[in-house]
Amino acid sequence: MSLAHGPKTLAIPGPSIIPDRVLRAMHRPSPNIYVGPLIDMTHSLIPDLKTVAQTEHNATIYIGNGHAAWEAALANTHAKGDLVLVPRTGTFADGWAEVARSMGIRTEMLDFGNRHAMDPAAIGQRLREDTEHEIKSVLCVHVDTSSSIKADLKAIRAEIDAAGHPALLQADCMASLGCDEMRMDEWGVDVAFAGCQKGLMTPAGVAFVFYNDRAARSRERSDLATFYWDWKPRTTPDVYFRYFQGTGPTHHLFGLRESLDMIVHEEGIENVWARHGTLAGALHAAFARWEDHGTNGAGVEMNVRDPAIRSNAVTAVRLPENGTKLRMWCEDEMGLTLGIGLGMVPHGDPAELGFFRVGHMGHVSGHSMMGTLASIDAGLKALGVPHGSGAMDAASAVVAGTAHPVSDSCVTLHQVASGLSG
Ligand SMILES: *Cc1c(COP(=O)(O)O)cnc(C)c1O
Repeated sequence: MSLAHGPKTLAIPGPSIIPDRVLRAMHRPSPNIYVGPLIDMTHSLIPDLKTVAQTEHNATIYIGNGHAAWEAALANTHAKGDLVLVPRTGTFADGWAEVARSMGIRTEMLDFGNRHAMDPAAIGQRLREDTEHEIKSVLCVHVDTSSSIKADLKAIRAEIDAAGHPALLQADCMASLGCDEMRMDEWGVDVAFAGCQKGLMTPAGVAFVFYNDRAARSRERSDLATFYWDWKPRTTPDVYFRYFQGTGPTHHLFGLRESLDMIVHEEGIENVWARHGTLAGALHAAFARWEDHGTNGAGVEMNVRDPAIRSNAVTAVRLPENGTKLRMWCEDEMGLTLGIGLGMVPHGDPAELGFFRVGHMGHVSGHSMMGTLASIDAGLKALGVPHGSGAMDAASAVVAGTAHPVSDSCVTLHQVASGLSG
């Protein structure tokens, strides 16, 4: 017998759950791509995408995934041989840097490991040393989906400015957009991008690159923006097909229209962030209780210890020995699909089995989050993993609004735990 029959939940950090109404909006015959409703509908996406990124500057749409956005952002802002600084808090920084190197851009990694925040002061220090202004961009992954560490983009911008350095600040918002607060203009981010398959709840296939006027000026010295990647014609297309340099991703656009209606026009972007924040708070409160089991090792542990740098979109979890077993148990017995661990130990190391991730991006409600948590709770019991009690009570208190903010409760639990062990 398995309890996995019936509705299933996908809790991986992308692709995320596609709402039925987004799927329905895509279920239609091919439209005319020369005249008719598709044209106006496409124009209407641009201001809404800008709202999601909180920018009044430029938005472009590429047919592609996050890797395409990595390449698009770099191609329009760099010349071959440029140097970029890549603060690293997980494997997605490695991925972006690899793309840069493949394009002839030199990369300098600033590695902060897999458990700690990027240190804005260290970034500022490196920029101060760069008196010749050789570094042309700082490439920051906003939320690294492997470690689930969130970067403080605003603080990093402040350090770049304090160093008097002209480098662009570029942000990979693939995991964070539509989940974690993102204020591109206010925070001084010059280039930001995301795909549609995470917070934006649409099947993988289109990506968005946002850029401001400073970044537009970098385009003038770039020699990497070939025909397809050039963002200029896409930003101000003289004819419709220039939005995409060819046939548009017609059905994705209809799906995206529906998801943007949900995000921008029905719920509102600030409320979307707040919902994700509360649900992530419930999840983190539950984990704080599970972590508090009074035995050494062997239990679950959130990868990120500092609540201030946890993400609303994804949570990386350490569970030595049992991480993969728990993930499989939830899938086979509960119909809950959790994400695999990524990049926490070298690929192929048996310790790899001791990690998993919970994706909580996009189409996630109080009810679905509580189901996810209760399933994990059951899994810990089924596998005999040591865990503290009261996780569901703690999560309930957060969604019911009767708990202190999770950051407080986590700090308190840690103080209690260290007080006990010390
Ligand atoms: C998902 C993700 C990517 C890669 O996106 P693909 O669509 O798989 O190419 C890049 N960066 C971050 C932070 C991501 O979460």
